This record gives sequence, C-alpha cells and structure tokens, in this order.
Amino acid sequence: MVNPANTANATADTATDTPAEAPTEAPVHKAPEVHTVVPEHRAERPSTSSTSDADSKSGHFELEKVSVSYGGDMALKDVSFYIEPRKVTALIGPSGCGKSTLLRCLNRMNDAIDGVKVEGLISLNGEDINAKAVDPVSLRMYVGQVFQRPNPFPLSIYDNVAFGPRTQGIRKKDELDEIVIDSLKKAAIYEEVKNSLKKHAFELSGGQQQRLCIARALATKPGVLLMDEPCSALDPISTGMIEDTVQQLRDSMTIVIVTHNMQQAARVSDSTAFLLRESIEEPAGLVEITDTTTMFTQPRDKRTENYITGRFG
Ligand code: ADP
Repeated sequence: MVNPANTANATADTATDTPAEAPTEAPVHKAPEVHTVVPEHRAERPSTSSTSDADSKSGHFELEKVSVSYGGDMALKDVSFYIEPRKVTALIGPSGCGKSTLLRCLNRMNDAIDGVKVEGLISLNGEDINAKAVDPVSLRMYVGQVFQRPNPFPLSIYDNVAFGPRTQGIRKKDELDEIVIDSLKKAAIYEEVKNSLKKHAFELSGGQQQRLCIARALATKPGVLLMDEPCSALDPISTGMIEDTVQQLRDSMTIVIVTHNMQQAARVSDSTAFLLRESIEEPAGLVEITDTTTMFTQPRDKRTENYITGRFG
C-alpha cells in the first residue's frame, strides 16, 4: 500500500508536524521570511468561506531568465515572463519543449529530481521562491498541483480531501466536513459523491478521480493551482467537466495549465505562452506570451503561427 505522505503530489508533500490547534501565525512555516512569498493570511487556518482569500494581486509570478538543466543538459533556457494573478495562463508547445519542467519550477517540484539545476529568478508575490528561507512545503500549500494522471491516495473520498487540512492541523470534524464539502463542490464532483464519501477513491472513474484530486488541492486553500495536462488521460465528457471547473475557479486563484491541446488552451485560458525547442542540440525557450485570443488569431512570431496552424509538433 502506498503511503500517501510519500506520494509524488504537491498535496502529499504538504504533510508537516503542524500543531493541531490553529495558531494565528504561520503554523506551516519553518522560516518567518516565507511570509513574504505566501501572503500571511494564507498561513492561517483555512476558512471555508471562499476558495482563495488572497487579495486580488496575490498569486502573480515573475520569471527572469529561468534556465533548467538535468544532469548538466540544459532543457530550458532564459525564460522570462509575468504570470498574472487570478487569470488562467496556458503553456503550450510540442512535446519535450519544457512545459512540465517550467510548471514544476513554480512550486519547486523540481527539487525532488536528482541532478536538476534551476537558475534565474522566480518571484511569487514579489519574493524569490528559491530563497533559502522559503519552505517548499509551505510553498506547495499555496501553489497546489494537479497531475497528468489522477493520483488519488489509497483512501476514502473524504480522507483524500481532508488529508491536506489535517496536515495543517485541523482536527475538528465539523470544520473538516465543511472544507471537504466546499472543496468537492468547487471541483464540481460533490453531487456525484455526496452519498458515498466513505467510498474508496479508487472506485471512482478516471474523470471523477481527477476532479477529486482538484478538490484535494483546493482543500488547502491555494492561491495558485498548477495543472499539468490534467485532461490527457480523460474522455471528452470528463475533459469538459474539468474545463468547467477551471472556468469556475478562474476568478478566485491563479491557474497555470500545461496542455498539448490548443483548442483547450483557447477555451480555458486568458494568456498563452508558447515554448519551443528548435533542435535537439539547443535548449527550449519561450517564443512568445500574449493574450490567448491574439495568440490564436495574430501570433507575433512565425514559429507560433506554424505551430498553431499544425505545420509541426
Ligand atoms: P514537455 O512537458 O514540454 O513535454 P518536459 O518538461 O517533460 O517537456 O521535458 C523537457 C526536457 O527535459 C526533455 O528533453 C526531457 O527529456 C527533459 N526532462 C524532463 N524531465 C526530466 C528528468 N526528470 N530527468 C531528465 N530529463 C528530464
């Protein structure tokens, strides 16, 4: 049996020795400086009143000359751009152009990969997320992630969603119930599972499991949600449901979604970044980022036009 706390998942990585009683200050932070990255109020015990209680500016990233190497081989070079708060940004480009690598930089999930080196500056809410004082566990509470394949923990539906809040120290049943129900509603799966919360998560369909994983990520009240091809393993109906969920969440948090599906990028995102690795000898880079409508109607760069019109990739 897999230990959920060891599962490769941003939510699982949130397991901490947080005290059960909700402190008023930074319960999940090992270093006070992390407050500057994660808004202070986010470190408080989550309320169930909204998905994100961050102010309208929190959840923005600035990337300056970000490069990533694996074992000395540079995969991504000098990527610089701004990710707007409370908007959906899509990362598109052919397979192997570094979309997932870039996404993992945003909550330091690359830290878990041997031999990886991340250079450049990645600021979240104006502060360097790779600074020594930043606790990656706290960071991942605030910057949640959903993966390509649904990866529910081998637990009940309820316990999957309650996992993060419990690691944040929430123990009261009423409070957990409220968070679980609220998160399941926001992930648009509540109606389907409300009478079977004790059911094992593995009994759900793939699409339901993915929405459960979204609910699990939402339960820790993230200000940012990273989605790495969240629909690639799903049928069209489930894909539509996930896209509807993204639409519903878009005003309350920053969403960055990797997709190989350009129609999906066009449907769900406000801005789109196009990444490209032009040859095997060179690292990938950012070609352009712009609002999604412009990207798909009047791309600035010929390479973008060639890609979105299906000439390659
Ligand atoms: P995309 O998401 O666009 O398909 P990736 O970010 O997965 O691209 O990969 C970009 C490059 O980095 C590829 O050349 C890939 O082989 C390499 N890469 C990705 N993950 C790893 C890893 N864990 N170890 C070594 N190389 C990796």
